[in-house]
Amino acid sequence: MRNLFISWIVSTLLLALSPLVLAQPPLVGHQIKVRIDPDLGTLTVQDTLKLPDDRAEWMILLHDGMDPMVASGDAELIPAGRLEHLARYRLRMSKPGPVTLTYGGLIQHDREQIAEGMGRAREWSRGTISPEGVFLSGSSGWYPRIPETLQAFQLEVSLPSGWTAVSQGEGPGTMTTGVSTWTEAHPQDDIYLIAAPFERYQTQASGFEAQVYLRRPDAALAQRYLDATETYVSLYSELIGAYPFAKFALVENFWETGYGMPSFTLLGPRVIRLPFIIHTSYPHEILHNWWGNGVYVDYDSGNWSEGLTTYLADHLMRERAGEGWVYRRDTLKGYADYVRDATDFPVVEFRARHGAASQGIGYGKSAMLFHMLRRQLGDEAFRAGLQRFYADNKFRIAGFQDLRRSFEAASHRDLGEFFETWTLRTGAPSLKLTDVAVVTEGGGFEITGRIEQTQKGAPFPVLVPVLIHQEDGEPLSLAVELNESSTGFRTTLPSPPLRVALDPWFDVFRELLPGETPVALSNLFGSERGLIVLPGGAPKADQLGYQQLAEVWQSGHPNWEIRWDHAIKDLPEDRAVWLLGWENRWIDRFAEQSQGFALEPEERRLRVLGGDALDGSQASVALTAWRDQQPLGWLAASDPAAIPGLARKLPHYGKYSYLVFTGTEPDNQAKGQWPSGDSELVQWLAPRRELPPLGEPAALVP
Ligand SMILES: [Zn+2]
Repeated sequence: MRNLFISWIVSTLLLALSPLVLAQPPLVGHQIKVRIDPDLGTLTVQDTLKLPDDRAEWMILLHDGMDPMVASGDAELIPAGRLEHLARYRLRMSKPGPVTLTYGGLIQHDREQIAEGMGRAREWSRGTISPEGVFLSGSSGWYPRIPETLQAFQLEVSLPSGWTAVSQGEGPGTMTTGVSTWTEAHPQDDIYLIAAPFERYQTQASGFEAQVYLRRPDAALAQRYLDATETYVSLYSELIGAYPFAKFALVENFWETGYGMPSFTLLGPRVIRLPFIIHTSYPHEILHNWWGNGVYVDYDSGNWSEGLTTYLADHLMRERAGEGWVYRRDTLKGYADYVRDATDFPVVEFRARHGAASQGIGYGKSAMLFHMLRRQLGDEAFRAGLQRFYADNKFRIAGFQDLRRSFEAASHRDLGEFFETWTLRTGAPSLKLTDVAVVTEGGGFEITGRIEQTQKGAPFPVLVPVLIHQEDGEPLSLAVELNESSTGFRTTLPSPPLRVALDPWFDVFRELLPGETPVALSNLFGSERGLIVLPGGAPKADQLGYQQLAEVWQSGHPNWEIRWDHAIKDLPEDRAVWLLGWENRWIDRFAEQSQGFALEPEERRLRVLGGDALDGSQASVALTAWRDQQPLGWLAASDPAAIPGLARKLPHYGKYSYLVFTGTEPDNQAKGQWPSGDSELVQWLAPRRELPPLGEPAALVP
């Protein structure tokens, strides 16, 4: 007990006394000449390393089987064991000076599936050289990687004619046949080498070159990306500070990825051609050149870059379209549906996404942290803080403490409690509106009320917006500071108040209340326990398809069961339930929910939100409903051939209440959420009526 206390005191003191900036890793210079043979899967490399003079021994990681030798310089290499696919060496220097290593060998790793929750997976490779293309990163061990250093490099890549290599920084040089050169003098935390027989497009923008590398020619597609690159790079340069690299490139990968590397992004062939990507994932990847690849993440103190990038890209794009509140509501719902007590962890423990729960924290909660910070400081101080953080930490490693310092300097406020609360604590506040009363006072109306925090555990310090509609004139907006478990508010209005609403734009990271958000697929996919009910009366091919879909979704979720419809006596009421197929014996139980839809099982017909009737033999549909507090889903395919695609796609549509697909791919035709009603955070003081729609406050960038 005592020791624990002392160690807490010491660590608190250390935190308080920690130097103004994090210790920065040493910089290693590389001059790399590499020859790549895609057919054989091999490379041969000569790398001249420039190491800081202050150490006589360095640990080096290189892919296994590379057989490295010291070709020049006063140093020797001593094997020091293995680490998975990597070999370790000690590089012992007898005197300072450059050291040239030569080595070569095969790097060819299959792609691995990484599970990301119910029915979701992505592919990753440790690195490969193949006739399809080349993908090499530091974790491939293609260059001598020295842990806890940053890299500056000159790279010359020899490839078969027609091939081009892409890396960070400035390039691809003079383009002599089969030779690409890349240079980056700013410290990098990795060196990437991507190559393929690319078609290249470029345009000179102000201060940098926009480039596109496609695996098959498509000038129109390339032009759209060149234009988008200019648009977003200039948007973020103005918001944050000058773009830090000589080029930005869109590079087409040979499997489906969405990676943001320094000065380029590697997107899969399908992703690149999805029409919405250019305004969703693409700005996100571009922004990573500031956050993550311009300012590096101090992983020991938590990955702040995904939250900040999500906030200033994904959130900002929706905010500019007037839908920031919808984005934030979906974020709160994602946290509520996928993060539970057992899987919750503080933001400082987020390193990388490995499923919906870590996404709910490292992207969602972290983005809300930045939103709450902006609402507290105001847009001007928030922008100044961003600019300061970037200017002070460019090409350096930074953590939440550095963010805090920058925003404190920009706002002249102590943000210690704010950052402690939102980075170190788990959970979320749960708000309640009580004791709302109105008295006439003089010619006006005095309205009073209380805001309570009802969650278990200590209250969170939060700034809660309160919106009051009145009979005449504009609605009145208050910001109530709530540091205790309960606090009152009071204001006067010239005309009778109609309605009081707490946090109507979802500005606070908090728990959602019933009624605030419609049921969606995420309620099913995020459920810990559930039942999938198969249709015993369906044709054999459908039965088989549904069974396989159920098994894919169930895998890794031991508390989900699969049963045939005739084998159960009733639908359980204590867990999520999926009903599959038009033939499902329990379909009437779904049809009677009819929240937003009308289902005619006999005719195989349905209507969604009063739209045209859909023919079940032409369209595959997924619908959701609440049954008490439990989500109920129903899925029916138009054709058994569409079922594998539905199994794969639906887990990516978590935020929707209904989905309609056609064809066997299948292609999405319609999607949306059921309208949501009022919650306990809203209180009417007059008979309910239609109020004019109210825009949320202005976007950070118009
Ligand atoms: Zn990201």
